[in-house]
Amino acid sequence: MVRPNTRNYTSEVSRISTKHLKTLVKSPLQYIINSGNKKLTAQVKDYAITYMLPNGRTLQGRIDDSAVSYGSRYWFICPHCQTRRGTLYFTNQQIACRKCFNLHYPSQSENQMDRLRRKVIIKRDRLFKSTDSEYNDLFNNAYCFPKPKGMSHKRYEIERNKLANIEDAYWSVARVYVDNICGKVMS
Ligand SMILES: [Zn+2]
Repeated sequence: MVRPNTRNYTSEVSRISTKHLKTLVKSPLQYIINSGNKKLTAQVKDYAITYMLPNGRTLQGRIDDSAVSYGSRYWFICPHCQTRRGTLYFTNQQIACRKCFNLHYPSQSENQMDRLRRKVIIKRDRLFKSTDSEYNDLFNNAYCFPKPKGMSHKRYEIERNKLANIEDAYWSVARVYVDNICGKVMS
């Protein structure tokens, strides 16, 4: 039996993807995206998109399309680096692509973030024993990965919660700096 996941985890980075964009393009209405315990409101008009971020800030962006065999594929244009993206990530006050989220952070936070990032990777190595690059990706969280073979459900749940707590610690630091840095890029 699969128990419902009731943990209110914050390690999931909130995101908006082309799946949402498909819906947005078809409708002139505002659309609410719930992701990673955060709510983003978006609205598309022609090639313009308006984002209302969780803190109420409104941001104007653009979308793009490209022809594919089954019609059109839609893309976000990252408001910061202006490149075409299939997914954008958002915090309370910023929305940006993966590359912009991985910008260099100020030196005072570097040690703490690096330390937490390393802790996540070490914990994942020990738990999942996989060399797959998915396991080195901080945008994936503890709940993305399958239970290691031969491990009891009970033990797995305990270990996975430990991992999720370290991921939470990482993102609580990382989010603040992403907001600061993207804010600087914008202004
Ligand atoms: Zn970007």
